[in-house]
Amino acid sequence: MKFRFPVVIIDEDFRSENSSGLGIRVLAKAIEEEGAEVLGVTSYGDLTSFAQQQSRASAFILSIDDEEIVEEKPEAIEQLRNFVQEIRYRNEEIPIFLHGETRTSRHIPNDVLRELHGFIHMNEDTPEFVARLIIREAKAYLDSLPPPFFKALTHYAADGSYSWHCPGHSGGVAFLKSPVGQMFHQFFGENMLRADVCNAVDELGQLLDHTGPVAASERNAARIYNCDHLYFVTNGTSTSNKIVWNSTVAPGDIVVVDRNCHKSVLHSIIMTGAIPVFLMPTRNHFGIIGPIPKSEFAWENIQKKIERNPFATDKNAKPRVLTITQSTYDGVLYNVEEIKEMLDGKIDTLHFDEAWLPHATFHDFYGDYHAIGADRPRCKESMVFSTQSTHKLLAGLSQASQILVQDAQDNHLDRDLFNEAYLMHTSTSPQYSIIASCDVAAAMMEAPGGTALVEESLKEALDFRRAMRKVDEEWGTDWWFKVWGPNDLSEDGLEERDAWMLKANERWHGFGNLAEGFNMLDPIKATIITPGLDVDGEFSSEFGIPAAIVTKYLAEHGVIVEKTGLYSFFIMFTIGITKGRWNTMVAALQQFKDDYDKNHPLWKVLPEFVQKHPRYERIGLKDLCTQIHEVYKANDVARLTTEMYLSDMVPAMKPTDAFSKMAHRKIERVAIDDLEDRVTAVLLTPYPPGIPLLIPGERFNKVIVNYLKFAREFNEKFPGFETDNHGLVKQVVDGKAEYFVDCVKQED
Ligand SMILES: *Cc1c(COP(=O)(O)O)cnc(C)c1O
Repeated sequence: MKFRFPVVIIDEDFRSENSSGLGIRVLAKAIEEEGAEVLGVTSYGDLTSFAQQQSRASAFILSIDDEEIVEEKPEAIEQLRNFVQEIRYRNEEIPIFLHGETRTSRHIPNDVLRELHGFIHMNEDTPEFVARLIIREAKAYLDSLPPPFFKALTHYAADGSYSWHCPGHSGGVAFLKSPVGQMFHQFFGENMLRADVCNAVDELGQLLDHTGPVAASERNAARIYNCDHLYFVTNGTSTSNKIVWNSTVAPGDIVVVDRNCHKSVLHSIIMTGAIPVFLMPTRNHFGIIGPIPKSEFAWENIQKKIERNPFATDKNAKPRVLTITQSTYDGVLYNVEEIKEMLDGKIDTLHFDEAWLPHATFHDFYGDYHAIGADRPRCKESMVFSTQSTHKLLAGLSQASQILVQDAQDNHLDRDLFNEAYLMHTSTSPQYSIIASCDVAAAMMEAPGGTALVEESLKEALDFRRAMRKVDEEWGTDWWFKVWGPNDLSEDGLEERDAWMLKANERWHGFGNLAEGFNMLDPIKATIITPGLDVDGEFSSEFGIPAAIVTKYLAEHGVIVEKTGLYSFFIMFTIGITKGRWNTMVAALQQFKDDYDKNHPLWKVLPEFVQKHPRYERIGLKDLCTQIHEVYKANDVARLTTEMYLSDMVPAMKPTDAFSKMAHRKIERVAIDDLEDRVTAVLLTPYPPGIPLLIPGERFNKVIVNYLKFAREFNEKFPGFETDNHGLVKQVVDGKAEYFVDCVKQED
């Protein structure tokens, strides 16, 4: 496999007709003749952005003039030092050579010298000799880059052996036999298809039993993530969660679960036949889900919940697992050491669903506010698990996920037993590109590069927040979008964790009396608040801008957001963030405001949307915002959704029993109007926010039914802005859409 990584030469005389220009060009030519590419530039330009070239280069040659050395020109030396530091901030390994005509390096300060791989004196050796020396170092460096599995896979794909095993497309050849297949082949490229192999290839090792290069990569990642065991998972954290649960939960076991959990955790409850007791998070009236108060974690409180649960027959049984959403969508984090302290030995496994938090372990900023990392103490008895979606914030392909384990002092993971659960959920034909991306995503996070990447997303996120504030200040009393987060931040304070702690009764978060030091906000998750609703749930009487309209507008301007709420939407600063991306967002929001203020008609500002929904053609942007705002206000929707999520859910059946009714068709399709007091057999999940509201075996209460009635009415009034509810079955009765939920059949 040939990779393209040029040798970068920085020499102000690179294009000059003088002897030093001639000298460096002779060297460049010699390097090219040895088969390497050369990129020659004449200045450092913007140091930071030029230093980014480290990811594309195989070596740097930095020239320093004779007179600069002899006269000890401090600026030249300083610039050299800065550049070398910028490179080393991200990359400790890439070879850097200094090139000069002088025979001595004694004028170069030691802190620069020690970062160098060599000092080239042009007139001492032949250019060919120097070129070979440079290429040898560059090659050794490149060879050191690929982690074990990726390395083996690239070798295999380049190897050109004929294979008789699946997949049936045989390295892509099958596609070439059909026109549309040709298109597919051209689109994805040969390598992706050559690397799509099956697990009959011995030299790549096995994901399913963790052998060979796959195992070496998992060990490598475990080292990088500072955990005792690490498993790559190729079916997303949805599957990672189920594996963790199946490894430790059996029918009838008591489990303690964040009510704001991902549906895969609820699936795990159903699948294992567990009896859940839920910890209730706070919510504010923006619809933002806050932390579970620290008091909810108190063992006495958990015991009380077990006591009250009608299905927990053994009230003294030890819960098998605690699962917490560590980083909510909006970025709320818990102090994991405090949770460990409270529950070590009380619950067997402490499981943090860190789908949105794989980056935290690479930066000191996050301290104890993530599950597993360097120098973190072990529990005495409880094992700590973290499940992470590599693909959400790091550089993993979709579905790339991983399970991290920290053993307890007295309790170590039995890898053979654990693997039985792993096998239950893993395809026997895992996708090797996903494994390779798990492998590479981990290698990318190796210090110092990984730290630099996380620092960069933090910096960009803070710059974005600053930019949004600046626009706000410039608008003065006129409205503008706000980024949810602490108010009173001095510019410098932003870099400190303390500024991001959720302190008791602060108005910006609206979560009330939180325990000190228990929660922080991850700045890289940015929830943007649109006007119309305040943190107390009061609708503005003047005007309101429902977020769904803003995000549609953004989408038509090429900005796709992660999640939309009533008056908020959410973006995040992954390690793939660029200044261009967030600046475009700021600009698009300005355009929105402009179009809104002028009440431009929708055919003009949302043409694609109007094409699908011509009824909105002539409505002005402002008028539409007002119409939807008025409907939200009239129904007091913010309060309604908050109350429905906080309402006390009484289980009538075990989740797994209710779900089983579906398999046996002992269910009835019940219309919304008849739902009150009925027991659902399915998960009911409103979008937004995508957090399950009702779990199989729970009863519909009045608030939830009211919400569903509202949603039905709203969807009729504003097609195209439907609130979607997974779990509702839509059927057309007498030409009219009716909604039903599959409920447990009532015994008569
Ligand atoms: C996305 C998500 C998951 C599932 O992860 P996938 O990789 O999409 O399967 C699990 N938990 C939480 C909290 C999530 O947000």
